[in-house]
Amino acid sequence: MAKVLVIGAGGVSSVCVHKMAMNAGIFSDIHLASRTKSKCDAIAASVQERTGVEISTYEIDAEEVPAMVNLIRKIGPKLVVNLALPYQDLPIMDACLEAGVDYLDTANYEPKDEAKFEYHWQWAYQDRFKDAGLTALLGSGFDPGVTSVFTMWLKKHKLKTIRQLDILDCNGGDHGQAFATNFNPEINIREVTAPARHWEGGEFVETPAMGKKVEFDFEEVGPKNMYMMYHEELESLAKFVPELERARFWMTFGDEYIKHLTVLQNVGMTSIEPVKYQGREIIPLQFLAAVLPKPETLGETTKGKTNIGVIATGEALDGSGEKTFYINNICSHEAAYEETGNQAVSYTTGVPAMIGSAMMVQGIWDGDGVFNMEQFDPDPFMEMLNQHGLPWNVKELDGPVGF
Ligand code: NDP
Repeated sequence: MAKVLVIGAGGVSSVCVHKMAMNAGIFSDIHLASRTKSKCDAIAASVQERTGVEISTYEIDAEEVPAMVNLIRKIGPKLVVNLALPYQDLPIMDACLEAGVDYLDTANYEPKDEAKFEYHWQWAYQDRFKDAGLTALLGSGFDPGVTSVFTMWLKKHKLKTIRQLDILDCNGGDHGQAFATNFNPEINIREVTAPARHWEGGEFVETPAMGKKVEFDFEEVGPKNMYMMYHEELESLAKFVPELERARFWMTFGDEYIKHLTVLQNVGMTSIEPVKYQGREIIPLQFLAAVLPKPETLGETTKGKTNIGVIATGEALDGSGEKTFYINNICSHEAAYEETGNQAVSYTTGVPAMIGSAMMVQGIWDGDGVFNMEQFDPDPFMEMLNQHGLPWNVKELDGPVGF
């Protein structure tokens, strides 16, 4: 029975708070704060209507550390769940340290003026969290998050070592818009326009953005083009699975998405360099994000499924030689919307955020310091995925991937 404070009121937060309310035996008292209080109130109203649970709402700028500390002290939660944007990770971690509470997020810190996707800023908090006897859990979404848990489950139950790893993220959903992103557009476009990087031979190898494309036939979705790109869990996987010879991340994009993105990039609209416009500085990507459809409005129209998983090849635990396993979850946009009022991209992130929070507040995952998902026992997390809307499936493939 724990009190939690969730920060941010977008699609991911909405799913996570709904799921927490559905698990009142674990989360007995839920508080929600964000920059725009009306968005917290809208989530609270939906939670009330769907589950009967009352949650308290607040307005906060999470970048104002003293205000955050005051709010945390006033509420007195066991855990702060950061579902705002990656820019707020460090100020929220600072506030948690000062107020003496545990911390969880779903995306690594990014400075506003650089699209870097690196853990070092947050790993640098290790000693401060350890000395304070507090836990910070980083990246408890789907990817990062479940993809690392899947990998560690394979390492615990199927493979003694993992030689090759491919993470495949397919969104087979159609939202009916010419161009829109399924989560925060600014973060999404920063991610896909950054150069691709994969782990090979003990180092990261950089290649041009969207330079490598492969067609893959996804179960319950069909054939889709997926593109190799950098994703932050590659860094923690390379650290915690040191025997990895190669690790890559792939995401599917439709031809229409690529066409629009190419044009926007060519005309400079995806840039994070400030430009002067009518006497004031604006950042083109932030302006673009402001005119694109809001991800939380796409739920109602999005049809289809997501299929996200990992393919790992390595030496079998039972001594039967080299084996390849594929472990994945398939999630329906319509079913996610029906249950929480949000589409599957928010659902597949918000549910693992709830599960990571459950692991922490129940002391199932415990430790002093800053932790990635790879560092804890995958089994209780995997069990909760099956129970709370993200069932997974594992199968053996004939051999390593041929791409
Ligand atoms: P949204 O943009 O929909 O929501 C972000 C929320 O954070 C908004 O309510 C916003 O407020 C609030 N916010 C922004 N700045 C501040 C601030 N300074 N203080 C307080 N609140 C603030 O994003 P999503 O819900 O789609 O994503 C949430 C997080 O989840 C992001 O960090 C994203 O990168 C991550 N994510 C992780 C995934 C994974 O699998 N690991 C997948 C998808 C997303 P306002 O309403 O006023 O704008």
